[in-house]
Amino acid sequence: MTLHGRTALVTGSTSGIGLGIVRAFAANGADVMVNGFGEPDEITDLCREIASQYSVRVHYDGANLTDPNGPEGLISRTQANFGRLDILVNNAGIQHVAPLETFPTAKWDAIIALNLSAVFHGMKAAIPIMRELGWGRIINIASAHGLVASVNKVAYVAAKHGVVGATKVAALEVANDGITVNAICPGWVLTPLVESQLEDRARSAGTNFATESEALLAEKQPMHQFTSPEAIGAMAIYLCSEEARTVTGSPISIDGGWVVQ
Ligand code: NAD
Repeated sequence: MTLHGRTALVTGSTSGIGLGIVRAFAANGADVMVNGFGEPDEITDLCREIASQYSVRVHYDGANLTDPNGPEGLISRTQANFGRLDILVNNAGIQHVAPLETFPTAKWDAIIALNLSAVFHGMKAAIPIMRELGWGRIINIASAHGLVASVNKVAYVAAKHGVVGATKVAALEVANDGITVNAICPGWVLTPLVESQLEDRARSAGTNFATESEALLAEKQPMHQFTSPEAIGAMAIYLCSEEARTVTGSPISIDGGWVVQ
């Protein structure tokens, strides 16, 4: 129970990686604020299930983080609900795949707003709170695409490279305030975000989900297996530990060897 007494906000945590991180935090005793979209009844059940399984407090806030005021409002309501904010995980993200020449401008704007600007707004609102506590952990979920590029993902790759840069700047600025700021850079994790890319690929290639899963892994990762949301959760727990107090400003890969090639 290394996080007992801590409060964590995980953006985009109704699904996928964010949900894996919420479960890991709750299992380690932290109270958690869940954010993201979904069916209201399912989200209520999910929060109740996590709260009762781990005996922690779990609240939900459906803030839309593409709104520039979304992150600040979410953070102030987290403080109002729990009385503190020790850990911020900027995880909410979306994807769109198309060649640059035909990439819809509205998709560019939405991806930059959520995947990059919301990280800036979140860190800006959280740092003064953490400075006052004299302790804080900010974890930005970037991507292997924060370190290297792929075709047809101009907005996503630009946003994730931006997240890695913003993480480094923030880490420098709070280096002596008891706060660390790091980026986790996953390779392929089987979540709804990747499942929809696989379904699109199978549809256009006339194949199936399993064939496209194997092909996707083989294209990028020397290790032909998906990382699990639980593994990302375990890495987040490490970054919140006292042992990790000098790990800061790092883009930490968990990607089956993707970016070492
Ligand atoms: P996901 O689609 O399963 O989850 C995304 C979450 O963000 C959901 O909870 C969704 O409701 C929420 N969300 C979407 N739009 C939002 C908005 N406007 N405001 C607030 N919340 C919003 O995706 P995932 O695969 O779990 O991705 C999570 C993060 O991990 C993203 O930043 C993604 O870029 C990153 N990532 C994913 C992979 C992967 O292979 N799945 C790899 C590297 C990085």
